[in-house]
Amino acid sequence: MPLFDRVAYFASAHDLHELPADTGSEIAFVGRSNAGKSSAINTLANHNRLAFVSKTPGRTQLINFFSLGDPADGVSLVDLPGYGYAKVPPAVKAHWDRVLADFLSTRSSLQGLVLIMDARHPLRDSDDAMLDWFGPTGKPVHCLLTKADKLSRSAQTQTLKAVRDQLKLKQRNATAQLFSSLKKSGVDEAENAIGAMLRAKQPATK
Ligand code: GDP
Repeated sequence: MPLFDRVAYFASAHDLHELPADTGSEIAFVGRSNAGKSSAINTLANHNRLAFVSKTPGRTQLINFFSLGDPADGVSLVDLPGYGYAKVPPAVKAHWDRVLADFLSTRSSLQGLVLIMDARHPLRDSDDAMLDWFGPTGKPVHCLLTKADKLSRSAQTQTLKAVRDQLKLKQRNATAQLFSSLKKSGVDEAENAIGAMLRAKQPATK
């Protein structure tokens, strides 16, 4: 059965003490605000309103948990707050930076990260900072270069190569692919990459 066939929202957290038990296998989705993270989650889940909860005004900065498959199996998708949003007050930003950093570095259940980037502006400073942050865990990152439909065929090829070269140059444990929520392209490839991260059970970080 496809990985995202049975996706169901099950929990939210504002802070680390509100997180569900750290006992399962999780893949977290991160990205700059507006990169297309909610659309990518919805596309993968084939479910238009799934990540809607993260867009509710006043509740935008939550960590949302979705179960994949049978909830009893403990396999989850984690929707992390978008970063790089200019209008967030500094105190809120500082709180979220800390929660995000702590979550990424201490969460044992976390098997890997899906980094969403706009294919027109990949690997911005904040994306690189995210990769620097996560690197020491040794866990894999899969980059979705989304909104690929906004690039010509040749620009897509060029962008993918440039991103892969850059990841290699910096010796990241990271892979990359093109994706479009609008065209629903790259879905199988993303599913395979995420499935592989979940199967390659990582050692606990704690
Ligand atoms: P988030 O803030 O990262 O969750 O971004 P959203 O998923 O809300 O997307 C931000 C904007 O980009 C919205 O207007 C989406 O409709 C648009 N968008 C997202 N993915 C795609 C895509 O693959 N292609 C195109 N053309 N637009 C997209």
